Amino acid sequence: MADDALHRMRHSCAHVMAAAVQTLFPGTKFGVGPAISNGFFYDVLTPEPLTEADLGRIEDEMRRIVKKRLKLERREVDVDEALELMRAGKQDFKVELLDLLKSKGSTAVAAETGDEDAVADGVDTVSFYTIAGFTDLCRGPHVDHTGQVGAFKLRSIAGAYWRGDQRNPQMQRLYGLCFATDEDLKQEIWRQEEAAKRDHRKLGREMDLFHFQEEAPGAVFWHAKGWTLFQTLIGYMRTRFKRARYQEVDAPQLMDRALWEASGHWANYKKNMFTTEIVDEERTFALKPMNCPGHCQIFKQGIKSYRDLPVRIAEFGRVHRFEASGALHGLLRVRAFTQDDSHIFITEAQLAEVAKQICEFILSIYRDFGFTDIAIKLSDRPAERIGTDEAWDYAENSLKAALDAAGLPWTLNPGEGAFYGPKLEFVLRDALGRDWQCGTLQVDPNLPSRLGVSYVGQDGTKQIPIMLHQANFGSLERFTGILIEHYAGAFPTWLAPLQVMVVPIADRHLDYAYDVADRLAAADIRVEVDASAERMQKKIRNAQMQKVPYMLVVGDKEAEQGMAAVRLRSGKDLGAIVIDDVIERITQEVRTRQDIVVAEPADATAEAAA
Ligand SMILES: [Zn+2]
Ligand SMILES: [Zn+2]
Repeated sequence: MADDALHRMRHSCAHVMAAAVQTLFPGTKFGVGPAISNGFFYDVLTPEPLTEADLGRIEDEMRRIVKKRLKLERREVDVDEALELMRAGKQDFKVELLDLLKSKGSTAVAAETGDEDAVADGVDTVSFYTIAGFTDLCRGPHVDHTGQVGAFKLRSIAGAYWRGDQRNPQMQRLYGLCFATDEDLKQEIWRQEEAAKRDHRKLGREMDLFHFQEEAPGAVFWHAKGWTLFQTLIGYMRTRFKRARYQEVDAPQLMDRALWEASGHWANYKKNMFTTEIVDEERTFALKPMNCPGHCQIFKQGIKSYRDLPVRIAEFGRVHRFEASGALHGLLRVRAFTQDDSHIFITEAQLAEVAKQICEFILSIYRDFGFTDIAIKLSDRPAERIGTDEAWDYAENSLKAALDAAGLPWTLNPGEGAFYGPKLEFVLRDALGRDWQCGTLQVDPNLPSRLGVSYVGQDGTKQIPIMLHQANFGSLERFTGILIEHYAGAFPTWLAPLQVMVVPIADRHLDYAYDVADRLAAADIRVEVDASAERMQKKIRNAQMQKVPYMLVVGDKEAEQGMAAVRLRSGKDLGAIVIDDVIERITQEVRTRQDIVVAEPADATAEAAA
């Protein structure tokens, strides 16, 4: 398979880099060097720390090795002999790996080595690969000779603790890209540079959307513009919920540990939960990490009959989950976030039909945000699970039936379901080809019974409903981050935090500028006036930097005629338009969630309102 071939190239390339490092920096101790999704890395401990400036030298040495087309020679070695060899070479990290391999087998080191066919028992023999005098412990497989490692480029150096543990020695991780062709490599370099330009943390600062600070790790300080964007997402979803007959609720942030004990979170999820105590009462509370137990409490109020089902409960629920501070990453990985979370209580017989509705619901949401390339994954029963095989068969088959009825292609994630039920995951591909798992649909026959949730069945007996956990955006914070990068901050008009900047040419046009802004604001358009002392061209550039979709330039002529010279952030000049028509145009873009495509070519002249 092509993927395997690429994986072999990347992994072999890691060996070539290690051989080059050893040649240039004798005495280097080597950790592990697996292939990764776009290349490889190798953890090394050189006698003197490496700097970015060394990467060029290492690359040059790698090219020399590649040119020689050296064979990657494999030999089987008795594990004790291997230990001897690595001890003699003072390769302390390899010695540690070999000790683990000998006593515990390759699963003990699989996380570090990236070994996919790990065996759990201790091993007697290991394999060594040698190129250019550099011998490495490795299972292979590799390419035949160094001429086949493909197109590569060393990208960066990062600190890395040996085996990912900060009590261990700190090493340096050298990252390289590796692809089958120069073309593919160039494409990836472009993609990475584009991703850096679109980094939501950078744009968040430049566009004044949000910030983080040390007092609240992993929690967002939303600024006015970012909060406007966030609220636009909520407003959109609220409308969608209403139209699909979901009931929006709000459940408490802090709830007694007894509830979390009943739900099972206290036993299984406590290490991710923030807890709190209050001096006057001897009770422990936890900040909710999930909304489901709260929704079960709401469902339980009053008696429900089978005639009431499905009951769809939705909440923009703010949840807190502990994440190690090193894992936090802007809006994409936080500790406090808002889910567009819903729980649908159904009878067993309703599963396939309701699941189909949810799939269609989620996909239509992504379409509205410009995502059309969506992959759906079905995760089925894991090895460790509760529930009968019949119940699993029924739940899995219902999800498959739902997908098929909706005409949606899907792939299987074998054994990746939760311990209580199967799930669907919706993965969307952004403008840079990156995949983001956002929506989920999870079948749960377990929690309702744990929390005493029931309804009266057709025969008058007490029945336990199935609960479906549904998330569409997933985390709104994360989805906002994804959108910022997907659109590179240039949101379509309906999402743009600021839709219009009115630019008066001179101070004497300020009154008219505010008059225009008032009329737009009255039509629910998000508008500001640039009343700064900057020159007009600078004001236009500033608005373009802020990625404001519309700039309305107003001077004497426009004021006289009740018009504005309309420019788009792309630089396109739409000429003078009467204000009512501007309002109509923007209102239409917001209503349809589609920017009007401008056919004529961009106007190259900068003088919009001369
Ligand atoms: Zn290898
Ligand atoms: Zn849930």
